[in-house]
Amino acid sequence: MAGFGARLRNLFGTVRTIDEDTWDDLEAAMIGADFGPDITESMLADLREKVDRYSTTDSRDLQRMLREDVEERLAGFDPTLKLTDRPAVVLIVGVNGVGKTTTIGKFAKFVGNYGRSVVVGAADTFRAAAVEQVATWAERAGAAVVRPQHPGQDPASVAYQTVEYAQRTGTEIVLIDTAGRLHTKGGLMDELGKVKRVVEKLAPIAEVLLVLDATTGQNGVMQAQAFIESAGVTGLVITKLDGSAKGGFVLRVQDETGIPIKLIGQGERIQDLTGFTPNVFAQGLVG
Ligand code: GDP
Ligand code: GDP
Ligand code: MG
Repeated sequence: MAGFGARLRNLFGTVRTIDEDTWDDLEAAMIGADFGPDITESMLADLREKVDRYSTTDSRDLQRMLREDVEERLAGFDPTLKLTDRPAVVLIVGVNGVGKTTTIGKFAKFVGNYGRSVVVGAADTFRAAAVEQVATWAERAGAAVVRPQHPGQDPASVAYQTVEYAQRTGTEIVLIDTAGRLHTKGGLMDELGKVKRVVEKLAPIAEVLLVLDATTGQNGVMQAQAFIESAGVTGLVITKLDGSAKGGFVLRVQDETGIPIKLIGQGERIQDLTGFTPNVFAQGLVG
């Protein structure tokens, strides 16, 4: 977000009169921050109208209006995680490398901080190293972990045993790590479908969270299209917003997918995950 913030500070930091250069600079900053052409155009039209209506020439007014517009756009979606079932079963899905496993570690810590008990299911059995990676994260977060009993075990079976473990031990939250790639996309969607069906024999699925990498922006959304179409996604997790100059992606992705953002990843450390709070985010983005 540094890029966008720096450009806005340039625009709004010193008291400046709003002129055509201001609008040009703001448009360039928004496009650069991945707001996308549609949102940029519609927000600029709205801001011009407001600036006219209040006949202000003060760039600080424009900054406040921009912040309010960002917040208003974000507020159209409900960011609340539905974790009231016991156990609350959460499936984490998304393409390789977006940050699923890291998010599970952080999420386990995040809910652990609220006193909830967590078990992680290592159901990405497609890659051997994935099991050790998620187990290490679970350990760091103080969560239990259910691993495959043999290499390449059916992910649905690992997921089933994880929920079984939670029910047996009274563990409150179940986080299931999943594979991001198989030989075919169809194969992967079939596998996720099977994980869901088998888990639902034991407990309803509380959330299916699709992880998206902010640095890949629109391209990442295209790559995740199969998940959006057929995985029953209930929420988005946007990772790698730290150091990403693409904060506008957060607005764009909700508008384009119609799915609420529920968590934000802002770094590689275990504490670098927060819930999504529109006014906090708007303040951070616009200042
Ligand atoms: P997966 O393949 O989807 O499970 O992705 P991983 O969890 O293995 O993460 C892939 C890479 O992204 C790792 O190097 C992580 O450290 C990194 N990563 C994940 N989340 C974040 C984040 O919020 N910020 C940054 N900077 N890196 C992240
Ligand atoms: P279907 O593929 O939708 O017909 O689902 P199945 O009921 O055949 O189960 C598919 C897979 O889920 C099985 O091969 C097991 O790996 C796993 N599974 C289903 N039920 C159980 C169960 O009771 N215990 C365990 N450990 N795994 C199960
Ligand atoms: Mg992974």
